[in-house]
Amino acid sequence: MKIALIGYGKMGHEIEKIALQRGHSIVSIVDRDNPEALASEAFLSADVVIEFTTPDTAVQHYTYCFEHGLPIVSGTTGWLARREEVERVRKACDGAFFYASNFSVGVYIFDLMSRHLARLMNAHDTYDVRMEEVHHIHKKDHPSGTALSLAEGILSELERKATIVPFLDSETPAIPADGLGIACSREGEVPGIHRIRYESDIDSISIEHSAKGRQGFAFGAVLAAEYLKGKKGTFGMKDMMGV
Ligand code: NAD
Repeated sequence: MKIALIGYGKMGHEIEKIALQRGHSIVSIVDRDNPEALASEAFLSADVVIEFTTPDTAVQHYTYCFEHGLPIVSGTTGWLARREEVERVRKACDGAFFYASNFSVGVYIFDLMSRHLARLMNAHDTYDVRMEEVHHIHKKDHPSGTALSLAEGILSELERKATIVPFLDSETPAIPADGLGIACSREGEVPGIHRIRYESDIDSISIEHSAKGRQGFAFGAVLAAEYLKGKKGTFGMKDMMGV
């Protein structure tokens, strides 16, 4: 398969390695300093584009790919406030889009566990819940896209929670009874830790996912590119994982 990359940072490099290992070719690489490559014959010849850039630039790349008939896989986080606009453009162009705030298969399973735990906790209101996420100091957005997706999963299952209250771990915000607090820390080069903790006066129950590196995300993104080839519509991990 011919893959074009937009964004050649930490994720772009990791994706290149895994795509080559899986027998694909990288026909074009676009980064901040060569945006003109988007119009190149090589870029436009790609079967699928994989995009990992920044919250401010991702949506313009989606629009460009939809308008040029290029299926696009993206993992850029921090742009979801524009989700409806993106879906409108995709539909108008009959485009193909695969988005995941976290491409890790392990995180996907963790989310299923978290939703199940939240459902059980509807019958046990002596427990309060909070989340912690820890990432490397270079991460621009907080809370992480993964923390937000996990939190949405909890809100959709746990009737007593209705809002998300993100804060930096140096702050101590007042969290309302229906609020789900997310404490965000930025430390060293941590690839990504998400912890969900239910606490009562008598005990606590925690589940945690800890990524060991970026390979899991990159592998998932390449699998998504393979999945997306030849399809039309908007897809996510649930479609690819089948549960
Ligand atoms: P990074 O800072 O290492 O790389 C981003 C790259 O995008 C840089 O090389 C930068 O020059 C490039 N860029 C910026 N503006 C551009 C533009 N207009 N055109 C082309 N390239 C441009 O960051 P990263 O660690 O590779 O992460 C990128 C994004 O992916 C972030 O939003 C991060 O949160 C997200 N991420 C998602 C997952 C997932 O599984 N979904 C996993 C890891 C990271």
